[in-house]
Amino acid sequence: MMENWKSRTKLVHAGVKRSQFGELSEALFLTQGFVYDSAEQAEARFIESGPEEYIYGRYGNPTVRMFEERMMALEGAEDAFATATGMAAVSGALFCMLRAGDHIVSSRALFGSCLFVVDNILRRWGIEVTLVDGTDLDQWRAAMQTNTKVCFLEAISNPTLEVCDIAGVASIAHDGGAKLVVDNVFATPIFQRTLQLGADIVVYSATKHIDGQGRCLGGIVLGTREYIQELFIPFNKHTGPSMSPFNAWVMLKGMETIALRCDAQADTAKKIVNALSGNNKINRILFPMDKSHPQYALAKSQMTKGGTVISFEIDGGKRAAFRFLNALKIIIISNNLGDAKSLATHPVTTTHKNMTAEARASAGITDGFVRLSVGLEDPDDLILDLLEALKEA
Ligand SMILES: *Cc1c(COP(=O)(O)O)cnc(C)c1O
Repeated sequence: MMENWKSRTKLVHAGVKRSQFGELSEALFLTQGFVYDSAEQAEARFIESGPEEYIYGRYGNPTVRMFEERMMALEGAEDAFATATGMAAVSGALFCMLRAGDHIVSSRALFGSCLFVVDNILRRWGIEVTLVDGTDLDQWRAAMQTNTKVCFLEAISNPTLEVCDIAGVASIAHDGGAKLVVDNVFATPIFQRTLQLGADIVVYSATKHIDGQGRCLGGIVLGTREYIQELFIPFNKHTGPSMSPFNAWVMLKGMETIALRCDAQADTAKKIVNALSGNNKINRILFPMDKSHPQYALAKSQMTKGGTVISFEIDGGKRAAFRFLNALKIIIISNNLGDAKSLATHPVTTTHKNMTAEARASAGITDGFVRLSVGLEDPDDLILDLLEALKEA
């Protein structure tokens, strides 16, 4: 029955497990461990535990499983495992597949911590790394080697909002016998069917749109049953970054409203782009679903809406960007994203300050660059706030 439900129905009902009390809201099983009726039952469970049988919180928990199953229903994934943070999801998804002597091809335009994992930790562990321009399929093709095991990319990059061709990279990866791992945070689980486009594994920082209200950290990895059971779970359960049941409960409740929130935020983002386009204080504005975006056609073909983040370059460099940020009255200066509250950040001095100046320049992250995560406020209030602050820039 559930397979035929539309996404919004799944977001409210999928994965629910009711206890003997028949509670309406999902129960929070705030427990580290589980008890057994007999020594024989404990022995049997350690040999093989069924889907509704738990052993220890690091291996699994009923509330966490409800969150995993709701995400599986939304993504059309065979299996999933939730993690303590988005970075535990990204790093575990890669580490569990790689060993010394293997090769990974990755898009260069990555979230700072993702880049550190790929370009620093993996290299230190004897894994060969090739970084490519993620928007150029020829570079992906040229980078493949006989020992390439994994291709990795962010569907939409942070903060320059480059769009990668998921189906194109997936087919190159598969031709070379490699798996494609996609960090789908910016595309959101609402606007892109990443597994259906050909990715093998999709990862999220649930800290962003899935919570969506600035409360908890979390992450999730989704893929085939074989990948989750044979590779990801053994890695994660022994290294330890499992999701707390409390955070899973918050994420479950976040999922009930994520489609409505993302839809409203993406619609407001589009209105803001239209209102700011042509403003004489802005040199360029980036939003995947805007006609001026270099990969507009690709974005339209693989996403239903453009996401909830806009980036733009303010004329006048850092001084002008800071004057603009300090003049905002509703929009808050913060480096999170996907939140109900609109948040603005200056990547050069915050999220991307560890990049070298040359790397930033080649990625197009200039001193006047501002990233805006669009929230749930009234679009007219946000537009007025932005236009007034731009006058101060
Ligand atoms: C925030 C983010 C992460 C890391 O998530 P945490 O929950 O902060 O660990 C990874 N990738 C992308 C694209 C992100 O935006």
